[in-house]
Amino acid sequence: MTAPDPSACPPAIAFLDLPAQQARLGEAIRRRIDTVLNHCRFVMGPEVEELERALAAYAGAGHCVGVSSGTDAIQIVLMAEGIGPGDAVFLPAFTYTATAEVPLLLNATPVFVDVDPRTFQIDPASLERRIAEVRARGELCPRAIIGVDLFGQPAPWPALRAIAAREDLFLMDDCAQSFGGALAGRKLGREATATTLSFFPSKPLGGYGDGGAILTDDAERADLYRSLRTHGEGKTRYEVLRTGMNGRLDTLQAAVLLAKLDGFEDELDRREAIASAYDSGLEGVVLTPARVPDSRSAWAIYAILTEGEAARTALQARLRAQGVPSAIYYPRPLHLQPAYQAHHDGTSLPVAEDLSARILALPIHPELTDAEVARVIAAVRG
Ligand SMILES: *Cc1c(COP(=O)(O)O)cnc(C)c1O
Repeated sequence: MTAPDPSACPPAIAFLDLPAQQARLGEAIRRRIDTVLNHCRFVMGPEVEELERALAAYAGAGHCVGVSSGTDAIQIVLMAEGIGPGDAVFLPAFTYTATAEVPLLLNATPVFVDVDPRTFQIDPASLERRIAEVRARGELCPRAIIGVDLFGQPAPWPALRAIAAREDLFLMDDCAQSFGGALAGRKLGREATATTLSFFPSKPLGGYGDGGAILTDDAERADLYRSLRTHGEGKTRYEVLRTGMNGRLDTLQAAVLLAKLDGFEDELDRREAIASAYDSGLEGVVLTPARVPDSRSAWAIYAILTEGEAARTALQARLRAQGVPSAIYYPRPLHLQPAYQAHHDGTSLPVAEDLSARILALPIHPELTDAEVARVIAAVRG
């Protein structure tokens, strides 16, 4: 009997490779963590402010406020605008649940908007229709638009700004997936009045736990965000000006993120190289993601479109058999989720519904080797 040929069954590829990331960055991260262990200022230590300065400088934004998660960042921004019962907050149906959950937490109503079939970003024409419908019905007061930079690419910001200005609506950018991306040569972070970031470990700039931040050019709003993240405090700790929350970014996460920020541009370049390799290797085989014109993607997710749900199931099984992981973002648009259905007006959002049956994400992270990228392409090509 001959020994099994190890090349016949190569090890499975990781969808997200945190151990490999640690092997690459571990020393720098440990040095940063050690500094925190030495000064023991675990809450609002100096690393939080250092990270805030570094992130604001990176994005060219006036102010950055570190917070406890991307979800809390959205909550603080909407609380600062006083959004609450009777208010309509417009957001894409094809996004992560956190975008829609926050308006409901504040007793406002999320109004779901359809998306573009090729870039997957919020569709300005659908947004205009939805705003007109809500105004015509007269039950809710339109207050805000949350543009989501989905999968690493920018939302159509010039169109969203024009609609927000014309309709007199607050505009915020949920940039949880896309920090590092850019539009018209400008890094994301200044497209709306406030931009929220997430440092969940799987995001392009990921910490080793929960974390988030808010970027804004508005000094008054930045002060309000700082107050809201610390129980609504005023000039001193025991002056309580408003209802806030415990929404602080912890020092250890800031330390990890500072270490990771150093190599972030290189990681984004590597993600772009992988996306380009997928684009050319898969052209004509499946629909590859359309690039938003004049943009740079942070490539949080590289999503292809199959012909239908059966084709996707078959492709996913074939990939799995070859050790190639894949994932579905998102298997159900938000307006059809049990938690949101009761708050939805029943309008069908055909693009979001169609995408959820056909979309499939391939691994894209900076630790992927060229050989692994070639294996992914070969497996998809079948
Ligand atoms: C991840 C994510 C969030 C929430 O971020 P957390 O840090 O996990 O709270 C919000 N919106 C979008 C689009 C996300 O992908």
